[in-house]
Order: sequence, then structure tokens, then C-alpha cells
Amino acid sequence: MVEINDGHRRPETAVVAVNRIPELRSWRHDPVGATVTIGAGVTYSELMVDPLASLLPALAEASRTVGSPQIRNAGTLGGNLGTCSPAGDGLPVLAALEAVVEIAGPSGRRSLPVGEFMLGVKQNALTPGELIIAVTVPVVGGWQGYAKVGVRNAMVIAVASAALVLDQTRRTVRIALGSVGPTVLRCPDAEAQLAGGLDWASLSTSDAVVQRFGELVSEASSPITDHRSTADYRRHSVGVLARRLARRAEVGGAA
Ligand SMILES: Cc1cc2nc3c(=O)[nH]c(=O)nc-3n(C[C@H](O)[C@H](O)[C@H](O)COP(=O)(O)OP(=O)(O)OC[C@H]3O[C@@H](n4cnc5c(N)ncnc54)[C@H](O)[C@@H]3O)c2cc1C
Repeated sequence: MVEINDGHRRPETAVVAVNRIPELRSWRHDPVGATVTIGAGVTYSELMVDPLASLLPALAEASRTVGSPQIRNAGTLGGNLGTCSPAGDGLPVLAALEAVVEIAGPSGRRSLPVGEFMLGVKQNALTPGELIIAVTVPVVGGWQGYAKVGVRNAMVIAVASAALVLDQTRRTVRIALGSVGPTVLRCPDAEAQLAGGLDWASLSTSDAVVQRFGELVSEASSPITDHRSTADYRRHSVGVLARRLARRAEVGGAA
């Protein structure tokens, strides 16, 4: 609707509202498979609160930062994936949790890891006629969080964002960055470095490890300068976000 209002897009025939399809509005938890499957029409307001917030805390945290109450009541995870903006707040969390997008179309159903679904700036892997029906998100034991920098505290599109997931069972670190590249970026070098430097029982680590983690995250970013920020500020701030998340994990892990 924003693109239509701005004259960037004209619907050729009709606009189809999918927000009253019950299958898209529901979600289910599979405790055996340790996943939550969230219908594409589930709103941020639903993701922000229990029981979903306890299962997927970083997604709840990201949802709380989206727009205003009106936007959170109307906006959905399916719409965030459909838009596929590198600034979409749900997307770094889905990437760090290695979620899978469930797609239905004229030739049947398919599933795609979110890292393969997001192709570039507002580009995704949907083909004509395909609909996102859900996203399946692993429930991870450990700490997870989301952080965002914008030009003000609320109602703001991210200048830089990051989601950190510490999987205490598998002893893996996953970090995904928003707004600092053409699409959401993972940082394999930073992930390996922090995983090697963490005390996995307490999730604590040294200042030197956290400092280096931030540097590696900044190096992995590929930002541009635009009307919201400079590339330099984005590169710097995403490293700061990564360091803060690592420190928050330590506090959260010990709690
Ligand atoms: C004032 C304002 C503030 C905003 N603030 C934020 C913010 O802080 N963070 C943020 O991330 N976003 C923000 N947004 C953008 C937007 O609200 C979100 O991206 C939201 O997730 C879009 O969801 P929706 O259901 O409204 O999708 P729509 O706007 O209805 O659709 C968005 C795109 O996705 C496609 N789409 C929707 N559902 C599906 C589906 N099931 N399958 C396939 N394609 C689909 C549509 O065709 C369209 O191209 C803001 C928007 C506004 C207007």
C-alpha cells in the first residue's frame, strides 16, 4: 500500500487481502520437533506476547520495535518476507534462527531456508502466483536477542540491526544483520570466533573476544549511504550492536 500511495506500483487488476484466511492466521508449536510454524498472516502484536514470545524471544523483541501499535496490529511476518526489505525487522531474527519459509503455488508446495528465500533488495524467491503460507522456526535452547539502531527510539526503520542466537545445545553462534547490505547478512567468521571464545555454561566471555566479535561483524557488513545513514555509521553501529548483544547474552545466560 505504501508503494501504491507513493505511485511506485499500480495493481493491474485487483488487490487481494489475505488477512482473513484462518490457515494463515494460526500458528502451532511442535514440542517434539522443537519448532513453531507461524502462519504468514500472524501479526507482530501476536508475536510480541506469550505464548509465542516465550518460544521465540528474539522475534518478540523485533516485533516490539516495528512501527506503531496500528502497524503491529496489521503487519504480518508474511508481509515482512513478501516485502523482503533489508530493513525488515523480522528478517534478521528468522535468518539467525535458520527458519524455513513454507510456500504454496499453482504447482504445489515447497519449503525454502530463509537464507535462500531472501535474494536482494526487496527481492525474494517467490515465483508468480506463489503465496507464503507460513514460516517454520526452530525453538533454540540458549539465549537470543535483537537490537536495532534508528534515527529515533520508536516508529523507525532500522539504520542497522542485528539478531544473535546462542544455541547452547549445539554450541553454535548465529548472527544476522539487517540494513547493512542488499539483504540480511550472516557473519560466519564472527560466529566461529565468538563460539570459540564463549564459556558455554555461563555464556560469558572476555572483553577482547567481544571486541573482536564486533570488529568481525562490522567487516562482514556491506552498507551503503542513503537518506537514512552513511555507510560508515552503519558499519560502526552494527559492530556496536553485536557487542551489546554478546554482553546481554552473558547477563541473560547467567539469569
Ligand atoms: C508507517 C509504517 C511503519 C513501518 N515500520 C516498520 C518497521 O519499523 N519495521 C518493519 O520491518 N516494517 C515496517 N513497516 C513495513 C510493514 O508494515 C512491514 O514490513 C509488515 O511486515 C508488512 O506486512 P503486511 O502484512 O502489512 O504486508 P503488506 O504490506 O500487505 O504486503 C507487503 C508485501 O508482501 C506481499 N505479501 C504479503 N503477504 C504475503 C504472503 N502471504 N505471500 C506472499 N506475499 C505476501 C505483498 O504482496 C506486498 O508486496 C512499516 C510500514 C508503515 C506503513
